Amino acid sequence: MTVHNVIIIGSGPAGYTAAIYLGRAGLHPVLVTGALAPGGQLVNTTEVENFPGFPDGILGPDLMDAMRAQAERFGTEFIHEDVTSIEVVDGGVASDGTIKRVTLESDDVLDARAVIVATGSSYRKLGVPGEEEYSGRGVSYCATCDGFFFKDKPIVVVGGGDSAFEEALYLTRFGSSVTLIHRRDSFRASAIMVERARANDKLTLLTDTVVTAIHGGNASTGASDALNPVGGITLNAGNAAGISLKLGNALGGVTLPAAAPAAGSVTSIDIRNTVTGETGTLDTAAVFVAIGHSPATAFTGDVVRKDDDGYILVDGASTRTSTPGIFAAGDCVDRTYRQAISAAGMGCRAALDAQAYLTD
Ligand code: NAP
Repeated sequence: MTVHNVIIIGSGPAGYTAAIYLGRAGLHPVLVTGALAPGGQLVNTTEVENFPGFPDGILGPDLMDAMRAQAERFGTEFIHEDVTSIEVVDGGVASDGTIKRVTLESDDVLDARAVIVATGSSYRKLGVPGEEEYSGRGVSYCATCDGFFFKDKPIVVVGGGDSAFEEALYLTRFGSSVTLIHRRDSFRASAIMVERARANDKLTLLTDTVVTAIHGGNASTGASDALNPVGGITLNAGNAAGISLKLGNALGGVTLPAAAPAAGSVTSIDIRNTVTGETGTLDTAAVFVAIGHSPATAFTGDVVRKDDDGYILVDGASTRTSTPGIFAAGDCVDRTYRQAISAAGMGCRAALDAQAYLTD
């Protein structure tokens, strides 16, 4: 069986950058992209304005296509599957006498002298009743994928970070209204995003509010739900960030869906004010959840050490994990910066660390 030099797991900026470096070093990396959406989170993004080298911005999918093409140019082999496990077996091909064995969803097995884990993170869920049930039927984690389906309908976005603001701003192209719901009264999102949101007439910021349930139904229950306005919830109009809430738009004047929702799709959500405890209902055809991500590292089992939240632990500023010959880079390690450019930088470091390990 072939023993590869390096298997890179993950096709975001970290994985592709590692592949570019290892390819240029003549190490013929194999990159396992993931079965569903190669390219990582940026594939679900619109304009990326802060990746150096693109003064006019670049679309996330275009940036990832370019990274992939660059990795391909230097001889990277791509495998479009998910990885189910990694194990370390005795084999004598690496300097420490081990082989890293990567098992794919298809049960195919790949052996390598070194592995770079760059699997990023996956969408965090709200964990409220109705979320799973209506996932794909009004509940979505990707505005660019699903926004179009909610043309002229009221839309809710949950979250207070850059992703939520980016999604909310994007969704104003489609929805009759967009309400961004955030559990606190100040935002993690960058000031420029918040300013843009405040300047957008279609967008309402609803702070100190959580979603407690998501409801749906067929056309008739949808209509009756839609006629049930919010039950007198008092919302926090003054907040630390100085955001002015348009309460009339947010709750009193909820727009009914332009068309009756399809059977079994989202019609409304239950909300609760986290300060006053008051509850209410908000009619909406869609709930876009943008509340961050969890590291996609479950498949690593206990082959590398992780923290309590599943982020892979690395040795200082290096990308070396607790297991020699296994390296980790990008959002599956980094809970702080989580930027495309910082992930790419870490992918570069992982490639150089892997190279040093292989030539030891
Ligand atoms: P994030 O910055 O971690 O923000 C997650 C938001 O969701 C926070 O506001 C958080 O509330 C909220 N949240 C978390 N769990 C929740 C729950 N169970 N219920 C309700 N709300 C919950 O994540 P992100 O927005 O995905 O951004 C991740 C990173 O990517 C950031 O570094 C961001 O700057 C970057 N990013 C950049 C761009 C860009 O520059 N164009 C675009 C997207 C993302 P709390 O604030 O109360 O914790």
